[in-house]
Amino acid sequence: MANSKFEYVKQFEQPDSLLPNTWIVVRLDGRGFTKFSTKYAFEKPNDKRALDLMNAAARSVMSELPDITIAYGVSDEYSFVFHKSCTLFERRASKLVSTIVSTFTAYYIHHWPVYFKDSPLSPPLPSFDGRAVTYPSVQNLRDYMSWRQVDCHINNLYNTTFWTLIKQGGMDGTAAELMLKGTFSADKNEILFKKFGINYNNEPEIFKKGSVIFREYELVEPDPGTNNNVVEEAEKTTTAVPEVKSKSQLEKEKKARTKAKIVVEHLDIIRDEFWERRPWLLS
Ligand code: ATP
Ligand code: ATP
Ligand code: MG
Ligand code: MG
Ligand code: MG
Ligand code: MG
Ligand code: MG
Repeated sequence: MANSKFEYVKQFEQPDSLLPNTWIVVRLDGRGFTKFSTKYAFEKPNDKRALDLMNAAARSVMSELPDITIAYGVSDEYSFVFHKSCTLFERRASKLVSTIVSTFTAYYIHHWPVYFKDSPLSPPLPSFDGRAVTYPSVQNLRDYMSWRQVDCHINNLYNTTFWTLIKQGGMDGTAAELMLKGTFSADKNEILFKKFGINYNNEPEIFKKGSVIFREYELVEPDPGTNNNVVEEAEKTTTAVPEVKSKSQLEKEKKARTKAKIVVEHLDIIRDEFWERRPWLLS
């Protein structure tokens, strides 16, 4: 590009690349979805179509961005995790966040008619905000994921009880809120069971656990030389010098990621089992 007297303005741009060798989480959240969900008559407390649409959009994001390791979604939010070795956009926060948020929004709108056949979108159109946070250890990253899933559980138990009191118990919102004030999980389980014969454990997994999306590697031969206790291994290496993978190694991994099947599940991601059975996620 030719130099011009205007070019100095480029220097006003601030660097925003994220700390190397840390796990990057980009979380997006629907803007004003309380209002949005009323406009399109989402079923309360959980509209399955809306959740499936969030999952479809997130899945599309994952297939366009092979650098994403895993994603977790609940309600109108989704968290996307980039591996600590990721160098996409030189790890620039604004580039990563804006790319994720705009790709997700584009697909949310693209997939909308599949899930809401009889309610075409009209302005104001759905939009999402986003942020990036870095986590220095596997433990911190897993605690982040656990935090979101615990939040899903707490909110869903509350919302399920609240809406049952209204829909089946004939209460209004104020009365239901008052009744639930200061109650613990056990109290809500009891209200559901004793008053309405609902066993919370039998509620759909997608409502109770949220959704986790990752690449399934069943078809990839395991390397007999690797230690399968990745959590332990990864913990060890976070305090050491950043592991530098060769360019051809990175290319090979990227190719495998691009070809792998992307699955959407509703599993417990708090306990070790999920991570131990999928060692590729944190290695
Ligand atoms: P903000 O712009 O600050 O995020 P918000 O109205 O989106 O405001 P949130 O805290 O993000 O507030 O809450 C999301 C809202 O969207 C909640 O009211 C929730 O009930 C509703 N919502 C999201 N997904 C669903 C769904 N699948 N079914 C029913 N309601 C949903
Ligand atoms: P990056 O992802 O790094 O931005 P890019 O390919 O989008 O890569 P840009 O520097 O943003 O690169 O350049 C935009 C490209 O899109 C150029 O090749 C430009 O010629 C093309 N382009 C954009 N708008 C138009 C247009 N209206 N008509 C023809 N070509 C266009
Ligand atoms: Mg928000
Ligand atoms: Mg929101
Ligand atoms: Mg939200
Ligand atoms: Mg351009
Ligand atoms: Mg461009």
